Amino acid sequence: MKNIELDKIEQLPGRQLKKEDKFYFRCCPEVKCFNLCCRNLNLFLYPYDVIRLKTCLGITSDCFLEKYVDIVLRHGNYFPEVLLSMSENKEKTCPFLTDKGCSVYTDRPDTCRTFPVEHGLKFDSSGRKTEMLHFFKPPDFCLGQYEDQEWSLETWTNDQEAELYNKMTSQWAEVKNLFQNNPWKNEGTEGPRAKMSFMAVYNIDKFREFVFQSSFLKRYKIKNDFKKKIKKSDVQLLKLGFDWIKFYLWGIKPELFKSS
Ligand code: SF4
Ligand code: SF4
Repeated sequence: MKNIELDKIEQLPGRQLKKEDKFYFRCCPEVKCFNLCCRNLNLFLYPYDVIRLKTCLGITSDCFLEKYVDIVLRHGNYFPEVLLSMSENKEKTCPFLTDKGCSVYTDRPDTCRTFPVEHGLKFDSSGRKTEMLHFFKPPDFCLGQYEDQEWSLETWTNDQEAELYNKMTSQWAEVKNLFQNNPWKNEGTEGPRAKMSFMAVYNIDKFREFVFQSSFLKRYKIKNDFKKKIKKSDVQLLKLGFDWIKFYLWGIKPELFKSS
């Protein structure tokens, strides 16, 4: 998901899709390009992707990050990107690619799920999210775009079971947008606050330990009904992670904190 400045929309590649627009696409093992798109990728993983993948693989988030990702801090950015590491073979295939297709299909990342549609979030000058934009953008080699199956954004999202993914990624994009300003000051991007913030959204098992085994719940008064939810659900805990970062770094008090 890209964060888009208002005056750059026309310059973006791909065909912009509005709610009522249709596009044609079909992917299946019979297409000649089958699996070609699952190699040599800059595949960004968002926090909810990591939860789904580590659960699917039956490993901890710590172990997933250790084994499957590259963490990259781009010049001028204040929060790193997390990319799925490609295999070290000639074709740099995705580590989850098999001859039969994707081995984590039911839990594949948001980008794979939504492909060949890409999303972007439009922000106004005060940094408020105003709209989600969608672009039909298959690569030239993708033969699925010449098939005759018709979709709208809604039918495609439903078919790919992408609604929760899109929602969680959009919530993360809002937080990420705040990182246009340097929150770390002299501490830098390797400092303790940066490490804690990364953990809160990307390393959910460590964040769970931190929330329940430190003085976190004494320091931050969280509404009781939400406390029950975060005990049971990684997704709810991730929502706490998003809100906690906003409060911890920028003092934005979230709804789920009790008023003092
Ligand atoms: S390139 Fe397109 S049609 Fe071919 S496998 Fe990938 S998504 Fe399917
Ligand atoms: S996760 Fe699955 S769909 Fe995505 S690139 Fe890897 S093999 Fe392909």
